[in-house]
Amino acid sequence: MIPYSRQDIDESDIAAVTAVLRADFVTQGPVVTQFEAAFAARHQTAHAVAVSNATSALHLACLALGVGPGSRVWTSPNSFLASANCALYCGASVDFVDIDPATRNLSVTALERKLREADAAGTLPKVVIPVDFAGLPADLREMRALADRYGFRLIEDASHATGASYLGQPVGSRYADATVFSFHAVKVLTTAEGGMVTTNSASLANRVQMLRSHGVTRDVAQMEQPPEGAWCYEQQVLGYNHRMTDVQAALGLSQLVRLDAMHARRCALADRYDTLLADLPVWLPPRAPDRVSAWHLYAIEIDAERCPRSRAEVFDAMRAADIGVNVHYIPIHTQPFYARLGFRRGDFPAAERYYARTLSLPLFPSMTPAEQDRVVECLSMALK
Ligand SMILES: *Cc1c(COP(=O)(O)O)cnc(C)c1O
Repeated sequence: MIPYSRQDIDESDIAAVTAVLRADFVTQGPVVTQFEAAFAARHQTAHAVAVSNATSALHLACLALGVGPGSRVWTSPNSFLASANCALYCGASVDFVDIDPATRNLSVTALERKLREADAAGTLPKVVIPVDFAGLPADLREMRALADRYGFRLIEDASHATGASYLGQPVGSRYADATVFSFHAVKVLTTAEGGMVTTNSASLANRVQMLRSHGVTRDVAQMEQPPEGAWCYEQQVLGYNHRMTDVQAALGLSQLVRLDAMHARRCALADRYDTLLADLPVWLPPRAPDRVSAWHLYAIEIDAERCPRSRAEVFDAMRAADIGVNVHYIPIHTQPFYARLGFRRGDFPAAERYYARTLSLPLFPSMTPAEQDRVVECLSMALK
């Protein structure tokens, strides 16, 4: 089976993890701090806070930005469930903004229209969560302007976009208040499970640090009461255990050394797909001159006007040939849970149209040209 994605683990990763297993700390300790510093430097942001996964990163970023009961959070329907669920964890309500079919990311035009209506109705969102779908950065500069005009905060869900760049700078928090990354095994850089929040705000980083560990501070300078001794810690808010371990951070730190090399492999494979697929009845993934995708996914769209086969037929034929194609994403608002909250099919037609024809082809750094040739060969048969 050629999977749609797989982790890239080498001997240096294994050595780094083994070294931590022989050291004093295995849970959150000095290696987490080192990983945070290296990640912040690589993404040109002031602060990076490592957590257990991107779902908890989204949850804590929402809480740290004041999302709670009565708040509204908007996100893209073309995303993984966590981009929306995070708001509900905080007791807030969720709504969606349809995608721009040209980028598959949250549409700035649709956002602007929805903000105008919400402004008139007094229902503006507290936070908007654009998603860098497939690794292609969303239109963060335009969204920053809207955030400043309408007074909401931006959390960029860059779970697909570790190593991507936007307007000549790595995805980080140049425009967003906070940016969230995922290090799940299928993503572009892995810690097995893991996540990161980056931000240029020291106070926001501090709040996420407290929330990831029970709402506790051990910093005397931050204490509300005079400490009775050096053993003192203070719980100041209701936090969680959303910590990353040093074992995971060691893997992340080692992977970070190879991030550019792994990204270059993904770019080369994506370029090669573009060439190999040029004559097939499919639309290729979008590119934009002012941003570089992390190429987490290579998602094509099947052109029904030129192709006699349905997406389901193509999917089944590929899976039967042991090629692990996948579909990203079933629009979040069409899930039964969200239907029970009142969302309906037809609410976000661009995301639904995109979903109906998309197929993610295998893409991972260790994929060989021969494997890629086999994917393309099977695809061209399946489309006939
Ligand atoms: C994977 C993913 C998440 C959740 O990441 P975890 O680390 O698995 O919690 C959130 N948002 C998007 C867009 C994702 O792809």
